[in-house]
Amino acid sequence: MIRSSPILNCINYIHERYSNISNGQVATYIPELAKANPDFFGICITTPDGQTYEVGESQHSFTIQSISKPFVYGLALADHGVDKVMSKVGVEPTGEAFNSIIFDEVYNRPYNPMVNAGAIATTALIKGNGYEQRFKRILTMFEEFAGRSLSIDEEVFQSEKSTGHRNRAIAYLELNAGMLEGNLDEHLDLYFRQCSILVTAKDLAIMAATLANNGINPITQQKVVNPKEVRAILSVMASCGMYDFSGEWMYRIGLPAKSGVGGGIIAVLPGQFGIGTFSPPLDERGNSVRGIKVCEELSQQFKFHLFDSHPVSQTCVSRTYTGAMVSSKRQRRVFQRDFLDQESEKILVYELKGDLYFATLEKLTRQLQNHQPTPQFIILDGHRVGNVNSSAITLLSEIKEWCLNQEIILFLTGFEDKIKVSLQANDWQNEMFINNVDAALEWCENHLLSEGNQQNITVTDQLLLEDMDIFKAFTTEEMAAITPLFTEVFYQPDDFIVCEGEEAKRLFLLAKGRATVSLKLPQSEERKRLTTYIPGIAFGELALFDIDISQRTADIMADTEVVCYVLEFARLKTLLNTHPEVYIKLLQTFGKSLVNTIKRATLEIRSLSV
Ligand code: GLU
Repeated sequence: MIRSSPILNCINYIHERYSNISNGQVATYIPELAKANPDFFGICITTPDGQTYEVGESQHSFTIQSISKPFVYGLALADHGVDKVMSKVGVEPTGEAFNSIIFDEVYNRPYNPMVNAGAIATTALIKGNGYEQRFKRILTMFEEFAGRSLSIDEEVFQSEKSTGHRNRAIAYLELNAGMLEGNLDEHLDLYFRQCSILVTAKDLAIMAATLANNGINPITQQKVVNPKEVRAILSVMASCGMYDFSGEWMYRIGLPAKSGVGGGIIAVLPGQFGIGTFSPPLDERGNSVRGIKVCEELSQQFKFHLFDSHPVSQTCVSRTYTGAMVSSKRQRRVFQRDFLDQESEKILVYELKGDLYFATLEKLTRQLQNHQPTPQFIILDGHRVGNVNSSAITLLSEIKEWCLNQEIILFLTGFEDKIKVSLQANDWQNEMFINNVDAALEWCENHLLSEGNQQNITVTDQLLLEDMDIFKAFTTEEMAAITPLFTEVFYQPDDFIVCEGEEAKRLFLLAKGRATVSLKLPQSEERKRLTTYIPGIAFGELALFDIDISQRTADIMADTEVVCYVLEFARLKTLLNTHPEVYIKLLQTFGKSLVNTIKRATLEIRSLSV
């Protein structure tokens, strides 16, 4: 149990502030209810992740009474579906007292499930074989909402059963009008019994938090009710939950809520919390006086009103760049790099963030459509995306259709699996999902390279020294001076070509096979792959310019059988003596290639601030 926190301080303060209010009367029309202690006062708030803040008599039991109504309504909906339930009970507020004897004569049904007439008709709909089984279903549902086993206050039940003439009269009128079917006494007993279930303010807060959490109990994690029933329950609570005070309640407090004559109130802020309060003295409309004050104060202090200062939708794009600004980590030959530098503008990456819903995706749709020139590939990266609601799923699917019509190849990267599943239900093919942006960029680059006939020369053959990118501009004479300095070295798969920490004394030109640069992750056996080298490129050349610290900073391992041409730095000195101009050209060429690498890195860094 939390003993100190800013939230707890706040409800403690509210509890203290209103505990001396002496307005209101404990309900007496059910004789047993008159015994309630008017001083008892409990407040509890539970969040959808199961944190509970409670103060006062938050664990004192009292009968749930009318707070049972929205929950039983949810069960009736689950039993029969909306159409059948709607034909038996409407959803229009009455503006009348909870026990009023009025019916919607146009549709021959009670007005709504929150007034007694509607609640009795709702309970009559609960399926089951006989009284015991039907009640067991109702009780089990409440136990699942509360996350614990609950009992009945038999005295209150008997008290209401023997004095509930008005409710009995309502039921007979409904029977007479054909609004009710079946065994009237059984329905009434069920209704009186559901009202006599014992709960605490803490139970109510957890029940309300289950509604706030889309029907999943935040303590037990059990799915108690479907989201569509949650929506229905909250809707009737919002329009009719507080008897003939419902309109003003919505106006002042702005949360779906329900009160009961036992002194309880529940209120829900969807997605954020559930409140349960308990204080028996009621106002003239049957609502707990202190309960209303608590909710009003909380709503005002924290701006909980559903229509309070809505955040105006932000953009969901955190960064946009083209493939020319950020390339895949895959190594490319110089001719491929040159080609991609020209072509990768056609790859457009949108890194998304936050929640995707109608307003944020509508902005994204416009941005994509207005992008000039029209890209050939779009990558939407979702690794920083939070919630994706169903209208966002619909709009994403519209984006997919638009891409199809424009002949744009679309990929989604980094999205959570559950979003993938919802999209697949909307006809998205598996191939449209790639794990990360780098892999998607690599796919698009490969596609561009193959369109431009710029694929790798077959990698099974060993390249000659003069085929290496670095020697592109070297003459035969220059090569003749360089070639004797290199030694051909063979590696088997998994051999270390370079080890982290070792002294850097040579550079490598990859002639055949593939080699991967990886870092050993701290406190783990795992390695992080940085890049993979392909034939034709040089590595380890950085050390050539690093006079002081010449230690290797990562491991390089052979993925396949590998052949490298290796140049010991010590042997370069020979070249300096015999062919100084070739020596300088060699250093310049390596320098130039490093400059290109830095330029690309700068471009990539710049894309971070766009
Ligand atoms: N069992 C009570 C009745 O029907 C419930 C009333 C209420 O809490 O509003 O009179």
